[in-house]
Formats: sequence, structure tokens, C-alpha cells
Amino acid sequence: MSSEIQVTIDGNVHAVQRGVRAGELLKLAANGVRPIAAKVNGKLVDLGRPVTEDAKVEPISAESPDGLEVLRHSTAHLMAQAVQSLYPGTQVTIGPTIEDGFFYDFAPATPFTADDLPKIENKMRELAKADLKVERVEMPRDEAIALFDSMNEKYKVEIIQGIPADEQVSLYRQGDWVDLCRGPHVPSTRHLKAFKLTSVAGAYWRGDEHNAMLSRIYGTAFASKEALEEHLRMLELARSRDHRKLGREMGLFIFDPIAPGSPFFLPKGAIIYNQLIDYMRRLYRRYGFEEVITPQIFKNQLWRTSGHWDMFRENMFLTTDGENPAGELDYGVKPMNCPSHAVMYRSEKHSYRDLPIRFADFGRLHRAERSGTLHGLTRVRAMAQDDAHIFCTEEQIAAEIDLNLRMVREVYDALGFGTIELKLGTMPEKHLGTEEDWRKREEVLAGAMTRNGFDFELNPGEGAFYGPKIEIYVPDALKRKWQVATIQLDFNMPERFGLEYTTSAGHEARPVMIHRAVLGTLERFIGVLLEHTGGILPFWLAPEQVRVLSLSEKVEDYAAEVTALLAKAGYRASADVRGEKLGFKVREAELAKIPYMAVVGEREAASRMVALRRLRGEKNQTLTLDGLLELLKTEPLPC
Ligand SMILES: [Zn+2]
Ligand SMILES: [Zn+2]
Repeated sequence: MSSEIQVTIDGNVHAVQRGVRAGELLKLAANGVRPIAAKVNGKLVDLGRPVTEDAKVEPISAESPDGLEVLRHSTAHLMAQAVQSLYPGTQVTIGPTIEDGFFYDFAPATPFTADDLPKIENKMRELAKADLKVERVEMPRDEAIALFDSMNEKYKVEIIQGIPADEQVSLYRQGDWVDLCRGPHVPSTRHLKAFKLTSVAGAYWRGDEHNAMLSRIYGTAFASKEALEEHLRMLELARSRDHRKLGREMGLFIFDPIAPGSPFFLPKGAIIYNQLIDYMRRLYRRYGFEEVITPQIFKNQLWRTSGHWDMFRENMFLTTDGENPAGELDYGVKPMNCPSHAVMYRSEKHSYRDLPIRFADFGRLHRAERSGTLHGLTRVRAMAQDDAHIFCTEEQIAAEIDLNLRMVREVYDALGFGTIELKLGTMPEKHLGTEEDWRKREEVLAGAMTRNGFDFELNPGEGAFYGPKIEIYVPDALKRKWQVATIQLDFNMPERFGLEYTTSAGHEARPVMIHRAVLGTLERFIGVLLEHTGGILPFWLAPEQVRVLSLSEKVEDYAAEVTALLAKAGYRASADVRGEKLGFKVREAELAKIPYMAVVGEREAASRMVALRRLRGEKNQTLTLDGLLELLKTEPLPC
């Protein structure tokens, strides 16, 4: 074997000694990137890793997505080292990176609280300053078991026991601290200078509620102090915009343990809910959807036919009609509308002339989501969707996708979301139908997205087993991405339900079924919209659009008159005539995110005017009552 190898760096080929460390080789790089790790033939490694074969070697900067992963995982190690030095006897378990940060699960004598975090952070800073070298060590599995056993690290021993006996495992050492880890890591702890521990939580070992409860510490790390600060500012903004908090402040909805994960929409919340449905209904008339109403509870036979019995039963609420003496649960509450739409389609004979048929349904759905996964409105057990199913011929698919993409664009433009992002989920490993059919149908979806001016990413293997799908994401004001809309082709359900239509040649053929939702789950959408807007909803969605604030009890009648005038003109208005100071009333109206406040005092009553204040800080203005109505008329309706 020659002692020389060829390495390619920045497109230049260099002949170098076999076994030189990646970090050394990268000093040959033309640009001035100071790497914290390297990629050797596409594999992320430590700078200290010897390069032993011909390879392309790339620098990984701290700011790059790969670099941030390395930085964050290295910071998780730093935290674990700090924890074990401050709280001897605490055992370590796992500490992966997550979106925007990392966590580490510990088994301490007493669970950590938020009060422990500053102390741990200080220790981390101390260890980072000490510039401890981070070294990779490899050893046979059994040797590693013996090592962690001698350190009384029961969880680590359990993890290593899951690795095949003849394998080498890698450990990372910094100072006197060591952890089992695949790596890679920063070369030394001084590279870790912008981090923050954010919260603590309980977590079960291996996520199993029968196991011990561990203490999890979350944190984040960035390449620079500025980037960290910007992130923390966003987190703070997210906290202040948490839809559960806004829901309370704005009086929109409540939750009660009597119905876990099932929101109770208060009158104001119900207004938002129904406004969204009314909006979709107006669009349905324009886009040619027909609304249907379907049952809530079905005999289990339906779920057997649709396949939900095997695929989804654990997420369904099962029930009985009470006539069954054995009390057998022979009915299921619907988790989705599709099967009932297939039943409706099947109830009549169809010719190709009838297609496409587009059924839309706002029916209540129930899903037995696990209690640990429930989260405000964004993960619920009781919901409705702006759900529709299109039955069409294979030739009609392209036009139907066009129609739905146009609808998606119109809705998200109207609701003030920025660019929407599309992904095409392609053929998964487990799939029905031939690869050729799949490619053809993926092409149809891709073509429709391009035709409608959308860029899209591929999501390889992420289609449903019954057909490819388009997933649509919106970024909110906090730069988080939410999956909202979806368009899915389904070649399976028509088969299972034996759906047919008569072709122009007089043969029976299977229609295609397209599942699609634009807003998606309404509950979740409202949660996302609240966080995106911070509760400052478009005028047409605001539960209370105008509040009339009286300056004294002398103008109570005039305040009532203005309110009645607004109500008659179709606006949602109320009067606050309590004997409170104006400042107090304004603050309350602002907290409730009411777009307009019409202040009336004796002067306004005498001249039959209002002093109008806006939630969004623009200048106040004095208007006649006609002027007020004219101004409100300029508030746009989405359609
Ligand atoms: Zn690690
Ligand atoms: Zn469906």
C-alpha cells in the first residue's frame, strides 16, 4: 500500500501522506473558513480524524447546519460534564441534538429545577475556558461496558449492551470526563462560547412510562453570541405569543380535564372558528365543491373496509349502541371523513360525465391521541377539518391539482402568511401499484406545482402507501414551519370500496380519490394563526371588531346608540360603560386584541362623533358616525 494518498480540497488535488489528520489537511484550503469539524467523502468527522484513503475533504464551519449540530452536541457533553462535577452520583443517559438545540437526560438524586440552571451554566463556562481537548477513543464493546460499570453508569451500560458484542465503540473524553458517543465533536471546549440552558422537564427512560423518570435539561448553542441572542429573542416572542396564553387573554377557548385534549370554544373563539368555515364555504361555491354532512359513528365494518381497523384502530374511540347485551364495542367514532364519502359515492351509479365529484365536509372528528402528545389547539383529540374528497378519472388529476393549488395560494395570501413551501412525497418502500404508475403520477403532481409557479422539494419515500402527496407548509412570523394543507392521491380506497364509473366506451372503471385540506385541522390552524399574528387577527376574523368606550356615565346612552348602529351595519361591537378610567378600559381592549376602540365623551355625544383609536398604533382620529361606517367598509374581506 502506497504511503501517499490523493485528497481533493476546494477542487484542488493534493498528494499527501496517508493518515494525516483532517484538520491538518484543511489548512491547505484556499478560503479562510475556520472549521470545527470536517467532511471526508461526505462523512462528518472530527478534525482529529486521520484520513487514510483518497478522499474529498471539506471544512465544516460552526455556522453551517452540520457545524451547528456538532456545536450543539458538544455543548450537551459540556453540560453533562458540568452536571456530573456539580452533582456527583448523577448518572448520564442520552443527550441528542434537536431542532435549534439539544437536551441531555440525567438520573440525579433529586430532579433538577430551573434554579439549578445558572449554576450549571457557570460551570460550563469555566470548563469551556479551560480549553479541554476533546479526544476520541475506540475500544471493544465489552471493555466499554466494564469501564462504565466501574463508573456506576447503569444507563450507559444498558445502551452499550444493545450494541453487537464484536463491535468497536467510540468514547469521547474531555478532561477527566468521558461519554459513549459516535461523535463528531469540536476539537476542544474553547469552541463553545455561545450557549444557554433553557428549561428542565421530566422524561421517562427510553420514553416508556413504565421506566424511571429522568431529569431532562434543554439548552441551545450557536456559533456567535449575536446569533444566540437573536434566537433567544425569538423564543421570548414565541412565549408571549403562545396561543394557549392568547386564548385565555382573548377569551377564546378553555380546556377541562373532563374532556382531555378537546377544546371548548367560548363565544369569541366560536366566532373565529365559524368565520373560517364561512370563508371556506364561499370558496367552495367558487371552486365547485359541494358540502355534505355525514354520520359521526359507524359500524366497525366500515373501518374494516377502509383499512382504518388495521392501520388506525389504536387512535380511534370505539363504542356501542347499548342494544348489545355483551357490551361489545361494535361501533367506531370517525377519525376522518374519507370512508363515509366513499359510501356516499357508492350509493349511486356514476358516468364519466358526473366526474369530478367534490365532497367537502366539516364533520367533527375524534382521534385518541396519546395524552402525552396533546398540546393546546395544535394537538387535539376533537377536531374538524376543511376536508374534501374528489372522485375523478386518472386524466382529470392534473386539472384537480391545479384547482386545489390555486385555492391554497388564494387562502394563504388572504391570511397574510408569507411564501408557502411545498414538498412532494414520493413512493415509499411499502406501496401499492407498480413503480411505473407511481413515477407517472409523481410527474403529474410535479408538473402541476411547476405550472402554478411553485418551487417544491422532494420528500423521497414520504408518500402514503396508496399514492404520492403534496404537503404544504407555511412559515409563521417566528420563522417556524407548520404543515397545514395537503393534497393526496389515493388509488387504494376506491379499490377497497369497489367504486366505479362508466367510461365513454361503456366500461366500468375505478375513479381516483383525492384527499385534500387547505386549512387542515381548524383547531390547529387557529393555534398557528394566533401565534403567527400574536392575536392581532385580520378584521374579518376578529371576534370583537369595535368596542365603544364611554368616558362617563353621562354618555351611556350615546355609547349604546353607537354600538347599536355598528351592530345594525353587521359589525361585532360592544360597549364598555363601566365606571373605570379610560386607560384601564383601553388596556383591557388591547389585551383582547380588538382592532378599533371608539371613545365617546360629552364632546363626542354633543357633536355625534367618536374618537377612534386603533390597536395597531396608528394615529387617533375623530370621525362622524357615517365616517366611522365608511372607514370600517374599507376593511377587506378575503372573498
Ligand atoms: Zn455524545
Ligand atoms: Zn381523506
